[in-house]
Amino acid sequence: MNVPSEDLERVKQALEEATSVFVITGAGISAESGVPTFRTAGGIWQQVDPMKVATPEAFAANPKKVWEFYNDRRVRLKQCAPNPGHEALARLERRKENMLILTQNVDSLHEDAGSERVIHIHGSIWEVRCMGCRKVTIHRETPIPELPPHCACGAILRPNVVWFGETISPIQCTLVERFLEQHPPQVTLVIGTEASFGYIISWAEETKRSDSLLVEINPGVTDLSGMADICLRSSSGEILPKIIS
Ligand SMILES: [Zn+2]
Repeated sequence: MNVPSEDLERVKQALEEATSVFVITGAGISAESGVPTFRTAGGIWQQVDPMKVATPEAFAANPKKVWEFYNDRRVRLKQCAPNPGHEALARLERRKENMLILTQNVDSLHEDAGSERVIHIHGSIWEVRCMGCRKVTIHRETPIPELPPHCACGAILRPNVVWFGETISPIQCTLVERFLEQHPPQVTLVIGTEASFGYIISWAEETKRSDSLLVEINPGVTDLSGMADICLRSSSGEILPKIIS
């Protein structure tokens, strides 16, 4: 795709000068690493009914079936590696005093690339939460030998992801809001997301109030495009290495 070089140059310059950078990522950046997406054409939710595998009710009715779905996804994810887009963001973080990545992805590709300040607003597929003692732990054994897995306390474990009908973590929301308040970003990058959640749009809007340069990196037009100062219409794996040296 043809991206104007003056736009690339403007974003590159702004990123170099910025002391605070806020990044929002979505399924697009993971898809470039081979991770199946949910909502797009041909995505997971066109093959599997989310109400049967991604709701608290489905889990209560049949935890084994829900875990089979997540176990399959973990097996698939284990074969995926970060792409040049993830790597460029990790490079940028090492140079910036203040940078936060807010991802809607449940994989760990940002961390695998070396990013350390990442908020998983929809949870992590590599974490489990106990239905009894509520403890959250990292759980990477894949495939999981026995489904559903159990906690040391004896209760069933669930994937620590946000399901349909559930709300996002207020603690994580506070972390995002505190970052935006304490370190108003000069640049905000919104990458590979349709921005279909209200809170994603709200946070992007909030950065506009502090005069952040809002940059969208996505091949297609989204609900956020009208608000963006610059839209770079291409894949993140191609664009990010060009704007982050
Ligand atoms: Zn427990």
